[in-house]
Amino acid sequence: MKRFFRRLLRGLIPALTLFLCSCGQEVQELQSVDIAMGTVIQQTIYVTGKGAQTENILHLIQQLEEETLSWRLETAEIFQVNQYAGSGKWLELSEKLSRILEQCQKLTEDTDGAFDVALGPVARLWDIDGWAGGQRTGMFQVPEVQALEQAVAQCGFERLNLQFLPGEKCAIVSLEEGAAMDLGAVGKGLALDEIFSYLKTETNVKGAVVSVGGSVLTYGEKPDGTAWRVGIANPHDPSVNLGVLTLTGQWYISTSGDYERYMEFDGVRYHHIMDPATGYPADSGLSSVTVLADNGLLSDGLSTACFVLGREKGMLLAQQYGAEALFVEKDGGIFTTPGMDALFQTMD
Ligand code: AMP
Ligand code: MG
Repeated sequence: MKRFFRRLLRGLIPALTLFLCSCGQEVQELQSVDIAMGTVIQQTIYVTGKGAQTENILHLIQQLEEETLSWRLETAEIFQVNQYAGSGKWLELSEKLSRILEQCQKLTEDTDGAFDVALGPVARLWDIDGWAGGQRTGMFQVPEVQALEQAVAQCGFERLNLQFLPGEKCAIVSLEEGAAMDLGAVGKGLALDEIFSYLKTETNVKGAVVSVGGSVLTYGEKPDGTAWRVGIANPHDPSVNLGVLTLTGQWYISTSGDYERYMEFDGVRYHHIMDPATGYPADSGLSSVTVLADNGLLSDGLSTACFVLGREKGMLLAQQYGAEALFVEKDGGIFTTPGMDALFQTMD
């Protein structure tokens, strides 16, 4: 994985190109490729004059990870919440995390628990991200059945008591013994939400396309007036695109797939999207799901949720949230919501 990142960084030389926008001002194209949140961050920003920089956006992503989302870093709120599990104490959350958890809770309810950010015990037991990301060394092994059963019993959003006091924007939370949160399913989308809030305050930004791992934000316009084209990887050969989405304006696009993070053992692929009901990697007949939504938390959360639910239930869930989705089945079948059909073209 590290080798992959290094090759990617070496291969992409940051470029700076000049355009003229309709107002007659010169438009600069800023590009960067970095690593943050354990994934690749690619940015292309079109700016006039001084203002937004790719470094500022990278900093936002790092800050979100360090201050709020990480379950590894002591500085992060999620780490601290997890530390409180079983203490019987209540912890007051920031407004930001209160809002995030409230939306995740709704997604859990709407998916009958197939989406569950209180999946920490199962996610840690497998730690597919750790193995695939190279932080774990040695021989990957499938967890023991008994250990998995125990971990499954400790998961579930109901192990978390989240309460908003009347009129308050900050919730208080208390976690049962053994419970742990993992916001990996929404982290990349949340980063895009922060980036959008930043971009809209920077009046010199005319357009941008930023990807944080499998989640992409398109913003504003390209200087030449053409649409954004976002490639969707072929889950059966991620080095090539299955197709492309043609989009105008602001969109959030997230893909969850069994090819993104996985380990192989005895000829079986164990990927990083878990079925909370079994504790094993979700096996709903899908290889990937791409969701298009009007905010990052939703696109990212829904793509993970739809992957676990499978095509039929996933299709209904996406429509319930007014999102568009594209499902790629293990046998290669492609299915889309009607709105997605109009935006997606296969490569051939
Ligand atoms: P994504 O790549 O956005 O689909 O998110 C996958 C990550 O979300 C995993 O690495 C876990 O941290 C976490 N996760 C795995 N399964 C689930 C699930 N069923 N519900 C919520 N989070 C999950
Ligand atoms: Mg996700």
